[in-house]
Amino acid sequence: MTSALIIGRFQPFHRGHLRLIKEAAKEADHILIGIGSSQLSRTKDNPFTSEERRETIIASLKDMPGKLSLYDIPDIGNNDLWVAHVEKIVPKYDVVYTNGVLERSLFAKAGYQVHATGLFNRDKYSGTEIRRRIRSNEKWRHLVPEGTLKILKKIKGTETIKSLNNP
Ligand code: ATP
Ligand code: MG
Repeated sequence: MTSALIIGRFQPFHRGHLRLIKEAAKEADHILIGIGSSQLSRTKDNPFTSEERRETIIASLKDMPGKLSLYDIPDIGNNDLWVAHVEKIVPKYDVVYTNGVLERSLFAKAGYQVHATGLFNRDKYSGTEIRRRIRSNEKWRHLVPEGTLKILKKIKGTETIKSLNNP
């Protein structure tokens, strides 16, 4: 049984994240999702709590029951200790999927197999871009899965994003 780790802040969970997870699920039997910067919420760059983000992920991946486990990963602000920190929280995994350069090098240095898929439609499938579009009343709903839409509607997520200006 192969398990794959994917870490993200998912602010919010978008179609780029979905593609990354679907790629990992082609190879791995189990997907471990780490919610990064889990301690942060209600700031401009991290509007949603880890619990709210968890809800968007589960609602967007309804077709993968039993294949998913989610973990909160708070920041420690130290790259050298990052992988050991993740290992303390997340059970054993065989491969890491990431398109992040720093994350890739940290996990590779610790001996993990790391896969990158490349970024899909990065000009649009980007948390920063989606938050910007919401703030400026531009079209954004097509950039996130139905599950994210449903939860953001429930928690009044666009209002939350528009109300926050602190970085
Ligand atoms: P932000 O702009 O807020 O940093 P983000 O879109 O970069 O948000 P993250 O939560 O930082 O999303 O990224 C989580 C993981 O998803 C990382 O490995 C990142 O490289 C990957 N990722 C983000 N966007 C895409 C995309 N469009 N296609 C594929 N992978 C992506
Ligand atoms: Mg990012």
